[in-house]
Amino acid sequence: MIDTASVDTSAGSSSELALLGERLQAHSKEVANAVLDWWLARHPESKRTSDMHVRDDILRTTCLGATTLGRFLVTGQLPSSKERDDMAAPGAAPLHDTISIGELTKLYLAWRDITCERLALYATQLGVGKEALRSAQDIARVGSDSSIVNVIRQFDAAHRRLREQLAHNAVHDGLTGLPNRTLLVDRLDQLVGQPHRRQRFAALFIDIDRFKSVNDLAGHATGDELLIAVATRLRGVVRVGDTIARLGGDEFVILCPDLADPLREASAVAERVTAVIGQPFHLGDPPQDFYVSASVGVGLAAPGDSAESLLSRADAAMYAAKNRGGCGHQIYDESVDRSIKRRPELLNDLHGAADRGEISIHYQPVVDLASGDVVCMEALARWHHPQFGPVRPDEFIPLAEESGVINGLGRWVLSRALRDCARWRRAGRPGVGVAVNVSGRQLGDEGLAEYIAGILAETGLKPSAVTLEITESVIVTVESAAQRVLRDLKATGVRLSIDDFGTGYSSLAYLRCLPIDVLKVDRSFVSGLGEEGRDTAIVTAMVELAHSLKLAVVAEGVETPTELEMVKRAGCDEAQGYLLGRPEPPAQSCAND
Ligand code: C2E
Ligand code: CA
Ligand code: CA
Repeated sequence: MIDTASVDTSAGSSSELALLGERLQAHSKEVANAVLDWWLARHPESKRTSDMHVRDDILRTTCLGATTLGRFLVTGQLPSSKERDDMAAPGAAPLHDTISIGELTKLYLAWRDITCERLALYATQLGVGKEALRSAQDIARVGSDSSIVNVIRQFDAAHRRLREQLAHNAVHDGLTGLPNRTLLVDRLDQLVGQPHRRQRFAALFIDIDRFKSVNDLAGHATGDELLIAVATRLRGVVRVGDTIARLGGDEFVILCPDLADPLREASAVAERVTAVIGQPFHLGDPPQDFYVSASVGVGLAAPGDSAESLLSRADAAMYAAKNRGGCGHQIYDESVDRSIKRRPELLNDLHGAADRGEISIHYQPVVDLASGDVVCMEALARWHHPQFGPVRPDEFIPLAEESGVINGLGRWVLSRALRDCARWRRAGRPGVGVAVNVSGRQLGDEGLAEYIAGILAETGLKPSAVTLEITESVIVTVESAAQRVLRDLKATGVRLSIDDFGTGYSSLAYLRCLPIDVLKVDRSFVSGLGEEGRDTAIVTAMVELAHSLKLAVVAEGVETPTELEMVKRAGCDEAQGYLLGRPEPPAQSCAND
């Protein structure tokens, strides 16, 4: 920093210069703080915590200047660049290069003036003569003048680093370090532009379910921690050569090039993604477990694709997966397109659909595996839309949740189902109960328990004949208000069941503290049982777990005699599925009605 060539150090005794130099070195931090104060007076905006880098750079640079000058005054020698780095801050990160070159120049002039003032002060304190002081001040001036040149040079090098950094930042996400949308689209464009690779790649669009509630409940710092952890887990499920990008918020994309069997391989990646994101995240301070899940949409490359068209299909498929309740993946196909197109209309038409007689209930039998008797009927809502015809509940229930219609619709289904059940029991089927699906949003319906109690009283139906099914993914995330509704529901005497068990990662501790009576093992665990490579170990373990907690177990989705045999062998108490009876309108499903 100091150019010695033009400095005459002969004036004043070297011991006097050394005294000044020692004092300056010892007080280099004060000099730096004085310069910083000067800067902050001119740049009040730098007081913001976000400008910590600016303040840090100023302190480090000016402290270094004072130390270097002080040392020169003592030894007559400049430190090597390595020594200078060590003096600046051992092992510290490089300067952040946050100050413009014009400002930097002014900063150094201020540093020079402040240093000269200080030297004058020290000279008085130490009784150092005028000659030595002037000599020291000359060194400071010449040194700092040439140090401006130096700094400009350094700045230029830093600027290059900065430009590289900016180029990196421009295509990477600051939080997770993953490529951002720009880089993703760039890589996609390259793939689309290579004819031989055409149609052999896929994009997976990933959105984290319930991310917002983590952010809202635990704060943004924990939300950020979650996103970083998600990025780490995603890195663990991709192959070398795949690109993981973060598009912002809780949206990620995985680009898988060079697939031999795109549909199969992309689906496998999607399954791995939902599996790893579904595992609890241990975050925050103090750490606690957070349960989220992933909705994944898969777009397979098609002829004539552009980067944007492929991404938008994957996005649409993700949307469809999310609309089905999240935690799962959806391959883009025509049905995705259709449901997206008609979504606004369906949302609108759901209002009053029950009153217009468009909603009906089908019932599917649940069979006791020991006796073979039908012990329960699950109520499944059906919507016959005047224009589109039958709309599946997978499509309209999430819409009803979103639009808030679900509370009214849910009450309508409950009222109808409980009344139907009371009628069957009076008409000679006293052992048959009814199961009704209750969505997560309905746990926000504080009057729900009272509503059910009212119908029970009115119809004389025993509460134990009624089971409310709540899906597991909802159960693991219910907040305290919803837990109260759960307890209120339980207090009416009805039974509570965890639906789709096995898909939502409830912990044993969690199950123990909820007022649950039944586990319904998800169809995905039942399907294919008895086939090669599929054993009953998982289902058996679930059954053991449930029984140890005094819960009954229902196997869902039994379609073949082998599956029926296997769920019996695994110890399930009841079963349901197309093999035992499809959902039917009440006239067929309860013939002796
Ligand atoms: P869920 O509660 O898991 O209901 C079981 C679904 O599996 C039903 O689909 C049923 O038709 C189907 N299913 C039954 N046996 C088999 C089988 O052997 N093989 C196969 N492949 N599928 C089988 P559905 O009727 O389309 O209902 C879908 C979902 O919509 C239900 O899943 C439930 O979560 C929701 N849902 C239906 N009605 C209502 C309702 O009134 N309220 C609420 N909140 N949700 C409802
Ligand atoms: Ca159900
Ligand atoms: Ca189910």
